[in-house]
Amino acid sequence: MRKYAPPLVMLAVFEAVAVTLWLTKDNIFYLFNFSYIGASVALGVFLLIKGSPHARRVTQLLVGLYMLVYLGLICNENMQIEGFWYYLFTGVFEAATIHYAVAKIFGPLLFGRGWCGYACWTAMVLDFLPYKVPEQPRKPIGWVRYVTFAASLAFVAALFLAHVGNIERIMFWAFIVGNVAYYAIGIALALAWHDNRAFCKYVCPVTVFLKPMSYFALVRITCDHEKCVSCGRCRKVCPMEVDMLDDARSRENGTECILCMECVRNCPRKAL
Ligand code: SF4
Ligand code: SF4
Ligand code: SF4
Repeated sequence: MRKYAPPLVMLAVFEAVAVTLWLTKDNIFYLFNFSYIGASVALGVFLLIKGSPHARRVTQLLVGLYMLVYLGLICNENMQIEGFWYYLFTGVFEAATIHYAVAKIFGPLLFGRGWCGYACWTAMVLDFLPYKVPEQPRKPIGWVRYVTFAASLAFVAALFLAHVGNIERIMFWAFIVGNVAYYAIGIALALAWHDNRAFCKYVCPVTVFLKPMSYFALVRITCDHEKCVSCGRCRKVCPMEVDMLDDARSRENGTECILCMECVRNCPRKAL
């Protein structure tokens, strides 16, 4: 039974967040929201332990579709980075600010970039493309993420500085336009560079939060060098070009790991 402790712990962590926010914000939505996400994550971890090759995709679709369709399109909540800036400027700790705090700013201290592997609705679509492992060397254009990060901040700041009316409505349309742009750029880059995750590596502004915080992640892939026979299979299946054989936090592309577990599943010696 001990091997099933991880999904139970994940469920307990999300339930603690759900109940705390429900009681402190006096809003039962948070109980439903974080219980649903916690149950989806726990199911994914459970399937992972059972050896299902679809574990990650199940969670990714359950959480990604919920956030994109239900929260974004039906509830009109902009959960993208523009929505985060919007709520931050209005001084309200709601929706996107809570989402960012839990999934993208403080959460990565615990579960690294688990968000990118198991929940992101952009990657949910990109992961359907055929280039699961990059076919070309990484390009030195990671600076693009700082441009998109600054552009998202400048866009929302300009709306406030210009005292534009009905910003909430603009945020809804920004969510639609932003997602269409993300999908279009993400799919174009994946097809051009034969790498499903090219958008994540070079363009996504959220990585400006995710990368530094995940450097300190508690949950991370490490190697048992007593078992490892240096066959190199793990590195061949990694979508993010992480040097998982190096246990140092400063390892190559260490803050890129999305905890997809492909290296772990493919290691013939169970060394990871
Ligand atoms: S890097 Fe950005 S687009 Fe890629 S999975 Fe993470 S949050 Fe989503
Ligand atoms: S293959 Fe391993 S090192 Fe690479 S992203 Fe997935 S879990 Fe991380
Ligand atoms: S797949 Fe396993 S045995 Fe092979 S290099 Fe990686 S950790 Fe070592």
